[in-house]
Amino acid sequence: MALASAQSTSGIVPEVDQFIRSRTRRMLIDGKWVESASGKTFATHNPATEDILAEVPAGEKEDVDRAVRAARRAFENGPWRRMTASERGRALWKLADLIEKHGEEFAQLETLDNGKPLAVARVADVPLVVDHFRYYAGWATKVEGETIPVSIPGQRFLNYTLREPVGVVGQIIPWNFPLLMAAWKLGAALACGNTVVLKPAEQTPLSALRLGELLEEAGIPAGVVNIVTGYGETAGAAIAAHPDLDKVAFTGSTEVGKEVMRAATGNLKRVSLELGGKSPNIIFADADLDEAAVGAASAIYFNHGQCCCAGSRLFIEQKAYDKVMPKLIDFSQKVKLGPGMDPATEMGPLVSSEQYQRVTGYLAAGKQEGARVAAGGGRPKDLSKGYFVQPTVFADVRPDMKVIREEIFGPVVCAIPFKDPSEVAAAGNDTTYGLAAAVWTRDIGKAHRMAETLRAGTVWINCYNVFDAASPFGGYKQSGFGREMGKAALDLYTQLKSVWVNLGPHGDNGQ
Ligand code: ADP
Repeated sequence: MALASAQSTSGIVPEVDQFIRSRTRRMLIDGKWVESASGKTFATHNPATEDILAEVPAGEKEDVDRAVRAARRAFENGPWRRMTASERGRALWKLADLIEKHGEEFAQLETLDNGKPLAVARVADVPLVVDHFRYYAGWATKVEGETIPVSIPGQRFLNYTLREPVGVVGQIIPWNFPLLMAAWKLGAALACGNTVVLKPAEQTPLSALRLGELLEEAGIPAGVVNIVTGYGETAGAAIAAHPDLDKVAFTGSTEVGKEVMRAATGNLKRVSLELGGKSPNIIFADADLDEAAVGAASAIYFNHGQCCCAGSRLFIEQKAYDKVMPKLIDFSQKVKLGPGMDPATEMGPLVSSEQYQRVTGYLAAGKQEGARVAAGGGRPKDLSKGYFVQPTVFADVRPDMKVIREEIFGPVVCAIPFKDPSEVAAAGNDTTYGLAAAVWTRDIGKAHRMAETLRAGTVWINCYNVFDAASPFGGYKQSGFGREMGKAALDLYTQLKSVWVNLGPHGDNGQ
C-alpha cells in the first residue's frame, strides 16, 4: 500500500514520505486543506512499481463550485486586488525561492508520481519551474497599457489603454510535466493579477498539492490559487463549463481540448489550448550526422516520448539514411530502463496503465500494418513490473499508417527517408498538428527557409527540446492556440480596456 511502497523505495527524503502520509487526502480551497464534498478519494500510483502511492480527494462539480467562489472572492475583494504589482512580483519570486529550497522534494515527487528519472526531474523540471516563476515575477510590474494618438476632428481626446487581468481562471494541467505545466499557467496568470482554480492531472496530483503548501509562506493570499484534484470527466469538465470562470487554459490531448472548447461556449469564457503534436524532425545530409542522430534520439525519448512536441516523425535525407539509422538504433538499444529513483536509470516507465496500453497498442498496430521494427518494439524482458516500453524505431513506414498519422505519446519514432529536399517541408507539414518541428543542416539559408515553411509554433535548428521561460510556446493548426511563456502569455491573462478622456475643443492657439 501507499506508505509501504514509498518507504521501500530507496533514497526518498523524509519530507516526501511525511508529505505523502499527512497531506494528500486534502486539497486546497480558499487557503484551507479540505476533503472533497463527497468524501471520495482516488489513488495515484507509482508507475515503476504499480503500487498505490497516495489517496487524494476526488473533487467534483461541487468542489469546483466552492473553489470558483473562493477565487471570485479573492479576485473581487481580497487583499490580492489591493496588493501592488511590485508586491505580487515579490510573492512570485519568493515562491520560486521556496520551490528551489524544497527542490529535492519536488524532484522526488515528480519521479514517484510520473515515473521520470530523478536526475531529469532535478536538472530539467524543477529548475525550469523556478526560472519560470522568477521570469514572471519580473513581468508583474511591466504589464503596461499605451497612449494612442487618436484623430477626432475639432475635439481633443486623451485615449489610453489599461491592461487588466482577465479575472478568475481555470487551469487544467497534464501529467507529463506536472509541476512545470502548472508553473507555465500559474506564473503568467498571477503576474497579471488573476486568481486561479487549478486542476492537476489525476495521474500526477502530488507536486501541485505540495506547491499549494508553499503559497501562504510566499505571501500569496488565501483563495488566489485553489487546487482541486479530481478526474477529467468530473472536475475538469466542471471547470471547462463553469459559468463564473472568465477563462480556461488547458494542456492535454487534442480530443479533450475540443471538448473543453465546446464546454466553454456556455459563458464564452476565453480559451487557450496547448494540445497534441506529431512533430517532424528533419535531418539533411549536410548536417553534423553524429549530433543529428543523438538529437533525433533525445527528441523522441526525452520524457519517454510523453512530450506534446516529441520528434516522432524523423525524416532523413536518403544519402544520410544509412549513416544515421545505425546510430539511432544503437542509441535506442543502449538506453537503460528502470525505476526513476534508481540513479542508473536513463528512461523510466510510462505514466500509467492506460498510457502503457495506448502505446503498446500503437506498437501492435505498426507491426500489423507492416512497419518494420528497427529497434525495441515491446516491453523490456528484464522488468516484470511497471509500465515500461522499449525505445522503439519503426522503419519502412507508409504515409497512411496509424503510427505516422496519430500521436502516440510514447518512445516510438517513425524513420522516413526522403530524396528531394524541396519536398520534405510539405511532407513535414502533412499532419493536422503543428506544435514543433526541427531541422538539422549546416546550410544556414536552407535552415531559415525551412523555419519559415514549416507550419509549427516552434522550430528548432540543430537542436531539439530547448525551452526558456522567455520564449513563447504553442501550436499551429490542431495543436491549439494561444502562446504560453514569454511576453506572449501576458495576452492570455489580460484584457485591454480603452479609456477616453475629453480634453475639450481645439483652441485657436493650438492648445
Ligand atoms: P491524456 O489523454 O494524455 O491523459 P488528457 O487530455 O485526457 O490527456 O488530460 C489532460 C488533462 O485534462 C488532465 O488534467 C485531465 O484530467 C483533464 N481532462 C480529461 N478529460 C477532460 C474533460 N472532459 N474536460 C476537462 N478536462 C479533462
